[in-house]
Amino acid sequence: MTEPSDAAARRAVEPVICYPNETLPVPDLELYAQARKGAVKLGEVVVPPRDAACFRVKAGQFFRISSVEGPQVGDLNLWNAEDLSERFYSGKSRALHGTHLTVGERMWSSFPYLRPMATIITDTLDWYGIDAYGGSVHDVIGTRCDPYTGNLLSGTQYHHCCHSNLTRALADETGLSLHEAEAHVHDVLNVFMCTGFTRDTGQYFMKASPVRPGDHLEFFAEIDLLGALSACPGGDCSTEHSSDTARCHPLLVEMFEPAQGALNGWVSPPVNGYDRSHGRA
Ligand SMILES: [Zn+2]
Repeated sequence: MTEPSDAAARRAVEPVICYPNETLPVPDLELYAQARKGAVKLGEVVVPPRDAACFRVKAGQFFRISSVEGPQVGDLNLWNAEDLSERFYSGKSRALHGTHLTVGERMWSSFPYLRPMATIITDTLDWYGIDAYGGSVHDVIGTRCDPYTGNLLSGTQYHHCCHSNLTRALADETGLSLHEAEAHVHDVLNVFMCTGFTRDTGQYFMKASPVRPGDHLEFFAEIDLLGALSACPGGDCSTEHSSDTARCHPLLVEMFEPAQGALNGWVSPPVNGYDRSHGRA
């Protein structure tokens, strides 16, 4: 189509932020940091390469995801430990915080709950910022690698995509069948993954993660959580995923409990206050 005569003026209109987040409840990061100092380790789970594992933390506890042997990306799902219908909502977390999450930002839950499930308290990759390609770390813009898209694009039957890894881990943890568990798997927080959208075509891109052994992302659990983490078959996601080609490494999840009374004044967030009448009496 031919451009209208005022095309330049229309493009020059300044954007407005869809969800100004100044009114979001602010986490008390100082309180969390103090509580974390005296916290003791409760246990750990090693996530094998090209596989996933579940872990549980109570409201008020902490969990840390670490790179241990080499650069590796992780795909994280979270559920309310007592009700799998409340799960991480990556799209709304993106709308509220932006394309990539870091310290002070939250993993929000699905409707009708829409409350913080976990708050990021430490991110050793926060120095990365946004690179010259528009890439950054820990995204909520990707989905999770899955065998359906692989089949659609190249006719493959690959079984160790994050979607299948998370499905098997959730089935093993809960006793649900594979097909029942699969329905609870959802879009992820892409831990340590470096991604963005190309400027010229707007396509989703990935590049080698800057993560190195010792790097970690740590969370405060706002509610009782069941988590599942997949060590993506893409490894550091520098080349390809959805295959056994990339070099992969395990990931470590550790759980910590603060000292008694260390969280005085903190309360686990209630579910969202919308009355759910949807305009009908
Ligand atoms: Zn993956």
